[in-house]
This record gives sequence, C-alpha cells and structure tokens, in this order.
Amino acid sequence: MRILLVEDDTLIGSGLQRGLQREGFAVDWAQDGDAASLALRTTSYGLVLLDLGLPGQDGLTLLARLRQRKDDVPVIIITARDAVPDRVAGLDTGADDYLVKPFALDELLARMRVVRRRQAGHSQTTLRVGPLRLDPAQHRVWLREVEIPMTAREFALLLELMQQPGLVVSREQLEERMYGWNEEIGSNTIQVHIHNLRRKLGTQAIRNVRGVGYQMGEID
Ligand code: CA
Repeated sequence: MRILLVEDDTLIGSGLQRGLQREGFAVDWAQDGDAASLALRTTSYGLVLLDLGLPGQDGLTLLARLRQRKDDVPVIIITARDAVPDRVAGLDTGADDYLVKPFALDELLARMRVVRRRQAGHSQTTLRVGPLRLDPAQHRVWLREVEIPMTAREFALLLELMQQPGLVVSREQLEERMYGWNEEIGSNTIQVHIHNLRRKLGTQAIRNVRGVGYQMGEID
C-alpha cells in the first residue's frame, strides 16, 4: 500500500517514513500543505497520515478540500494538538482517526489496519482466498495452514490482490501502490514478483488477464 505522509517536522517525518517502509509500505513524504495537495491530485494513495500544523495550506483546510471534491481516501490525523475541540474538528472534517503525538509506531500500524478493514467493509483481521490465509498484522501467509515465507514486496503485492480477490489490478496500479517517489522500479519488476509468488503458491494462484492485469486465481 502506498501512503502519503504529510509532516513538516523532519525528525518525526524521516522516522515515520523509515518505520513504515520497514513494514513494507511505499511512503511519499510531503513537508508542506501545498506539496501534499499536489501529490493528492496526481497519485492514488491507500492512506494519508496528516499533520495539522503545516507551512502553506494547513492540514484541516487540506482535509476539508479533499472531502469537498469527494475524495474518500482514508485519513489519519497525526498531531500534537490534543484538545477535545481539535479532535472533534478533525473527525468532523472527515478524518477516519486521530492520533496524538507522541505515539508508538505499533499503535499507528494497528489503527491503520482498523481503517483499512473499515474501508474494505469487514472486521475480519485476516484475509482468505480459498486455502490461502494472510495476516496483515503479523505479515504472515499460510497455504493450507503451512506458513509460506515471503519477501516484503511479495507480501505487499499479495495483499493488494487479496484485498479484492475478484478484481483485476493492472501492472501500473500495482507499481503505483507498491513504490514511492524515490524508489527505482524496473520494467519487469512486478512480473518477477508475480513469478515468485506463483512458484510459492502454485502456478494458478495468480491469473494473468491478458492486456488488463492480474487477479487471484484458483489455488489447488
Ligand atoms: Ca507540524
């Protein structure tokens, strides 16, 4: 999943970016409101982490404009403003959650999973497709209850496909969701990950819909 991190504090921003990348997320980091606004208009994100006090456009204005144009990307506010009126304003402007700094990365990750589950319309903590089971919290995958080792990228790709198993996802969409601004991606990188996933899960596990993209297939 690709995340837009909007944070002007360089220490907090770089720490969060590194921590989230270690968890397998692609993270674009915008350091002011205007850069964030531009990023949101040009890239499709799975989640936005939004500081409120920012140079240029402040976080609440940014959020209000985002919701005005019917963009329903999940947003978690991360801020030092802990007063009740601030929290209420943040949530009423359209944030999905509100986390007060300082916070532990583990709590942020858990709240991100809650927001993602809510957006997917279910409360199941693990994803299942046939005999395949994926746990986003533990970063683990089982096929018929036998654990299958995965690299961070393979896991991220499988998660994208398993979230909506009926849907066909194009190579371009997978690239956009799995890689951030400064990450090099080769023309056949996605194909290589798909190849490796098929080797581990069975050749039919991921279907190639010619000219369109990939979707979960039959696992036998
Ligand atoms: Ca700030």
